Order: sequence, then C-alpha cells, then structure tokens
Amino acid sequence: MFREAIERMAPYTPGEQPRPGQRLIKLNTNENPYPPSPAVRRAISAAATAAALRLYPPPRADPFVAAAARLYGLPASHILAGNGSDELLSMIFRAALGPGDRVAYALPTYSLYDTLAAIQEARVAAVPLEPGFAQPLDALARERAHLTVVCSPNSPCGTLAAADDLDGLARRLGPRPLVIDEAYVDFASGNALGLVRRHRNVIVLRTLSKSFSLAGMRLGLLFAQPSIIESLLKVKDSYNLNRVAIAAGAAALDDAPWMRRNVAKVQRTREAACTRLRKMGFEVPPSSSNFVLARLAGRDMAPVTAALRRRGILVRHFPASVFRDAIRISIGTPAEMTALYKALEPLIKSVVAGRAGGRAQK
Ligand code: PMP
Repeated sequence: MFREAIERMAPYTPGEQPRPGQRLIKLNTNENPYPPSPAVRRAISAAATAAALRLYPPPRADPFVAAAARLYGLPASHILAGNGSDELLSMIFRAALGPGDRVAYALPTYSLYDTLAAIQEARVAAVPLEPGFAQPLDALARERAHLTVVCSPNSPCGTLAAADDLDGLARRLGPRPLVIDEAYVDFASGNALGLVRRHRNVIVLRTLSKSFSLAGMRLGLLFAQPSIIESLLKVKDSYNLNRVAIAAGAAALDDAPWMRRNVAKVQRTREAACTRLRKMGFEVPPSSSNFVLARLAGRDMAPVTAALRRRGILVRHFPASVFRDAIRISIGTPAEMTALYKALEPLIKSVVAGRAGGRAQK
C-alpha cells in the first residue's frame, strides 16, 4: 500500500501515557512535575474565543516567535516555531535528506532520529558514545554526513556537550548543517544558542515541553540564520501551530522566571536522586537534564521496569539499546521520588542477589 521503506521500518515507540483517571507515578517521558505559569491558563482562555477560533492562526505563529525573540535576544527572522520540536526535527530531516543520503549522530540518543531517517530512506552513520557517555564530536566531524545531529544534553544519559566543542564541530562540518537538539538544556549550566550567530550551518532546537511544563501544548522553537529558516518554511505545514498553543507559548516565554524556579527545584531533586541511586549500587552519569540514567552493568532492567509498573511507577527502559541494563528516570516531585526509592530498593537488592532481573543478552 505504501512505500517499501515505510512498510519495512519500525515505528517510533512513545513512552506509556496513563489513561484518564489512572493514577500512576509518571517518571518515564521527562515531563515537568510542576505546573506551567498561571499566565498560560489566562492566555489560553483569552485566545479560545469563538471569533478567534473561526479563523486560521498566523502561519508563522508571530506572537510566540516575538516572545522568543525577546527572551533569547535573536531577531524573529532567525526563529521558526514548531508543533513540538519533534515537528521541527521532521522538517529538518525532510529538507536535508533524500534516499541514500547520510545522517550522523551518536548512539544511544533520542530514537526519533532513527525513525525520521528511515522515513527519508537515509543512511545512518551511528557513532558510539565515548567512555563516560561523552559525545564523539571528533568522529562525527570525520563522518561529514549530509546532516549531523547532536543531542545536548543527550538522552538517555543526560550528558552535555560543551559549546566550545560544538563550535569546533560546526566549523569542521560547514557548510553541512549541524542540528543541536537542546530539548533539555534549561536544566544544564550552559547552552550553544550563541553559535547560531556565528555559523551559517547551525540549527538549535528548543522545546517548551520540559522546562516550561507544556508537553501537552506541543510547542518547539528552532533558531538558525534566515537562509535556513527560509528553506525550512518550504516544507512546513501552512498553519502548524494552533491559536491556543501560540497564545500559551507566548505567555510561558514571557514568564521565564516561573520556569527557572521550577528548573531549580528539579535540579535539586536530581542531585539528591543521583546520590541516592548511587548508594543503591547504580552507576549514574552526572546529568544536565531533568532525568537520570541509572545503570546496573550487565543486568537486564526489563523485569525491574515491569515490577515498578506493577507498583504504579512508570520509568523508561530501552530494550533494544546498549542501555538495556539501565532505567531512565524522569525527575518528579520529592514525594514521587521517595515512592520510587521505596519501591526500587528491594527490587535492586533481589536483582543483585540474583532472584530477579537477569543477565542482559549480549
Ligand atoms: N528532542 C529530544 C532529545 C527529546 O527527548 C524530545 C522529547 N521526547 C524532543 C526532542 C521532542 O520534544 P517535543 O516534541 O515535545 O518538543
């Protein structure tokens, strides 16, 4: 019925979303445990009038882009709004890659890149992460692929690539595009947004799903020089953001202090989580994001993930990755994390004693 590549490819598997009314502690898809700014609710009500909803939204989401220009100090000509940063990634892959073209990124990383590459019938140059979970930037530069993507902080390990190193990578790759996916960067201590002004081939992606607590609104931002924006506009759906989302996004960006207070709480809980999980015996790389990777080398974490699920706690496991001996835990409220530790500790003791879990298949 469809192209052979589509029939053959595996679909992207999103993390479990609870059914309405289902009470679960949700630490599996890196949402923010705290609510968005109250200004967002007010903006949504004001935007959702019958008169406004009758009309198409502004095609380039102008009020949202204008708020981004104010907050990030770049002109609107350098900014493109997306229905989540997933849509922006999809636009980039569609614009940059045809059948047989090469896209390079480190593995493991955000698995949507594999899906988008498969849709384009592009070839993936997958470069393993370096020891210590560092991004293999040198090896990525050597690939000289049509498109290079660096997820920083990377998922699922939470490690940040230094802006100076990304600067070097952008220079070596030029003129080929370098995407820096900064979905989690508000939880880090630095970012690479400044590279947009210095390089004609750099594209920086942000989302309001994590730090701004708006995963349900589907709001993403792309920053690049105007020539890139003009090309990407050709593959964009005409009205990709709805009126309500545009208003919500503008209000959220205008209340960045609210976001920063939530981020500070998440960072504190994250540091406590690293300490606690290491005490349990996990290897936990330092995280610059709103999740931590907890690894028990050589032990398949699928049974532990399932046991936590039975206790009403969702975490993320990646059965097909080298991290199948790990779980990725989104940082929740302190109370949610306490519930997790209480459930996890006895499970891990029995895994280590060999009563559950089991050796990960090589
Ligand atoms: N990039 C990375 C690395 C992510 O983990 C996610 C969230 N799954 C996204 C982009 C997409 O975020 P959204 O579409 O919600 O903006």
